[in-house]
Amino acid sequence: MSDAQQSETYAVPSPRFEIRATTTPVSDNLRESILAAPGFGQYFTDHMSHVRWTRDAGWHGAELVPYGPLALDPAAPVFHYAQEIFEGLKAYRHADGSVWCFRPERNAARFRRSAARLALPQLDDETFIESLRALVARDSAWVPTPRDAHDECSLYLRPFMIANGRFLGVKPAAEVDYYVIASPAASYFKGAGKPVSIWLSSHYNRAAPGGTGFAKTGGNYASSLVAQQEAIDHGCDQVAFLDAAENKWVEELGGMNLFFVYADGRLVTPPTGGTILEGVTRDSVLTLAADLDLTPEERPISIDEWRDGVRSGEIVEVFACGTAAVITSIGKLVTEDETIETPETNNDVSQRLRRQLLDIQYGHSADTRGWLTQLA
Ligand SMILES: *Cc1c(COP(=O)(O)O)cnc(C)c1O
Repeated sequence: MSDAQQSETYAVPSPRFEIRATTTPVSDNLRESILAAPGFGQYFTDHMSHVRWTRDAGWHGAELVPYGPLALDPAAPVFHYAQEIFEGLKAYRHADGSVWCFRPERNAARFRRSAARLALPQLDDETFIESLRALVARDSAWVPTPRDAHDECSLYLRPFMIANGRFLGVKPAAEVDYYVIASPAASYFKGAGKPVSIWLSSHYNRAAPGGTGFAKTGGNYASSLVAQQEAIDHGCDQVAFLDAAENKWVEELGGMNLFFVYADGRLVTPPTGGTILEGVTRDSVLTLAADLDLTPEERPISIDEWRDGVRSGEIVEVFACGTAAVITSIGKLVTEDETIETPETNNDVSQRLRRQLLDIQYGHSADTRGWLTQLA
């Protein structure tokens, strides 16, 4: 991506969000019972952040409004041409009651890169972070309080941007809306800590050179759902994709990056080269690797190396990572003609990395890298 693309649209200097509070907030009792068992992505807080963009006026009208349905014109381009991007990050409550998020400037920068790829206007980083703060400060009662040091509850934040307006012509939208919604979350996978099984997709690819693989856009997910269904039909939890050019190089899961731990201490992950989503968790794991005496390597890894490495014992652990599920061990890889199992007992490295990340996020260990931003 060129610098010109990156720095294109910086219209609004940190606007304050005007508050239009809901007159019908969820009752304290109901909220408490939701927070006792929130699941993932099922319940939403009382408000949402909103900023409008038009080609003529740029970004304007930052506001916090009651959470609720949007009235969109049926001809809005988001419905027809999927001009849409999103982000995902979490707010964590610390023991003193304060609320923090993890490396939000990375999400803000990625949101700009996604916007540039989808021909959407770029939102400046200050407004992005202010939009999180406006919402979390107002709805802070919705940030669950961990019951103990192993409780991984949080408030999941979902910023997104959609092409609005009434126009079926194929060109970048002249009207755009940006929102942030928030959803209390327990651990992402049921029975967190259990290794997951992975189906290797041999019919479908997720991304191709020159495509949108590096952008966080709904279309990538829409086109991977059929492969995810194939995984479920084969008794697997998640699907792994290979590169589209040679069908040989391991890329990532539908929504998580992949890592391979070698017996000699190397920690290998495929390089981001346009077809892989640049995960914040991925980058954090690469950074934390040194603390665990691991040698991080960003290089292509083939499906043959995965299979042969696990068989020979050269690869001792495989794990996936992303904001929602943090770090998850992969117990087996299922392909059209074989099943390759990593011993279940091999999860030492992934569990230690997971603990390190969570300890920083929940404020149990010192934030020596300045990765936390206070929201409330
Ligand atoms: C969001 C996402 C990830 C994980 O990114 P994090 O920033 O670590 O949450 C990985 N792959 C895909 C395809 C994603 O959409």
